Amino acid sequence: MNNRVIFFDTTLRDGEQSPGASMNAAEKLRLAMQLEKLGVDVLEAGFPAASKGDLEAVTRIAAKIKNMEIAALSRTEKNDIDLAWKALSHAAKPRIHIVIATSDLHMSAKLNMTRDEVLKEITEAVRYAKSMHDNIEFSAEDGSRSDRDFLCKVFEAAIESGATTVNLPDTVGYAVPNEFAELIKYVRTNTSNIHKAVLSVHCHNDLGLATANTLAAITAGARQVEVTINGIGERAGNTSLEEVVMAIHTRPNFFPVSTNINTEYIYPTSKLVTMITGIMVQPNKAVVGANAFAHEAGIHQDGVLKNPMTYEIMKPETVGLSSNKLVLGKHSGRHALRSRLKEMGYELSDDELKLVFNKFKELSDKKKQIEDEDLEAIVNEGILRITDVFCLEYLHVASGTTVLPMASVKLLINGKSIRGAAYGNGPIDAAFNAIASLINAKAELLRFSINSLTGGTDAQGEVTVRLKENGLIALGKGADPDIIVASAKAYINGLNRIEYLKTLPDSPVI
Ligand SMILES: [Zn+2]
Repeated sequence: MNNRVIFFDTTLRDGEQSPGASMNAAEKLRLAMQLEKLGVDVLEAGFPAASKGDLEAVTRIAAKIKNMEIAALSRTEKNDIDLAWKALSHAAKPRIHIVIATSDLHMSAKLNMTRDEVLKEITEAVRYAKSMHDNIEFSAEDGSRSDRDFLCKVFEAAIESGATTVNLPDTVGYAVPNEFAELIKYVRTNTSNIHKAVLSVHCHNDLGLATANTLAAITAGARQVEVTINGIGERAGNTSLEEVVMAIHTRPNFFPVSTNINTEYIYPTSKLVTMITGIMVQPNKAVVGANAFAHEAGIHQDGVLKNPMTYEIMKPETVGLSSNKLVLGKHSGRHALRSRLKEMGYELSDDELKLVFNKFKELSDKKKQIEDEDLEAIVNEGILRITDVFCLEYLHVASGTTVLPMASVKLLINGKSIRGAAYGNGPIDAAFNAIASLINAKAELLRFSINSLTGGTDAQGEVTVRLKENGLIALGKGADPDIIVASAKAYINGLNRIEYLKTLPDSPVI
């Protein structure tokens, strides 16, 4: 049996379905380039029929990325398949990914179709896609709750019609590991032509079992796993790429399989996803949480100093957490900045580099050491957020023990400068009130949090806000050594993201 496990990353498609995680086309392209460095085999870039934005993002990624397969999701409708293929037309290694539900519940309640009708639909859709291209994946949505024998028939029909990968999703995160492994074995035994395709799994984390189910499936013979960085995704999220990779890496005797993943890019990729989506990783998250390699208890620290293996089953360097990071400072020149950015994966144009360099100089006046996190924040704010409707031009805040906090703000709205002022019960409240009054924003602030981006009292404050307007939820982020400015940036970023969300139609869920 082939022992290579294919990693199919869906951070850009399923991950983007996390509430408030929408990314713009430039952010998606940046993330795609990082995932290529990480060694992902197949990147699901989006669902072109969902919106013009998705179509554009998949098209841009497909044109740029040469080493990974680029997949585009499609329902069984002809129009969906046409759009997926259109978006992939410039891809070096395209894959059309077709999905339809196969559980009795989904077929009757959602599709209003019989089993026979669904089988016919699959055959026609896969054949149609196959007429355009050879690399076709078929997914049986709600596969884990589908009738086993029907599922085998479904896969048989899909493979017969030309599918080269068949995917068994645990769409609602209902499966448990032993049962899921049994199902994989059953499908492998009872689908006559299964040897002609790669069997894939796609798990969700509603019961906290996504990683366990995925690993059980690998043991039972699945050879593609669908995952996201940090496990982001619909509801409780998808299987975490980093958890599956590190389980395989740490327990090779138990998982005698190989992967193409460069583990030292795991941590930088996780940080980038956090920065772009604004979805924080819980501190105790396996592999990439802030505490994953922190040893607080004295007795543990003592042991780790004597021999790291006493309490560390993985080396921090293996996942890219390096202790001797290269830092830039006030005197670093444009050349040093360009080469550091290049190492981080950014190939900027001269104009973009000029913009980043100016911001870098501004920041290095306030902060002695500029670390990778700082540079990511600068590029993120300066280059990737190209669709902003509202921009902060100027902010002045007065606060203290004897004054009523007041903020005056100047914003650029669709190219026009507008200024205003407002009071608040604190400086951040005043700044938000002033911004909201200029934009006439109706968004409600659901959550506000602030973190230090790096160590040191001169560190940049990184603010995350969660905003809600008419059922749309968006996260906003902003970084600055001045936490009031960081807060204003985050608030404006959140409002921009709400504007972006308003332009997107609903996406289906698998
Ligand atoms: Zn999913």
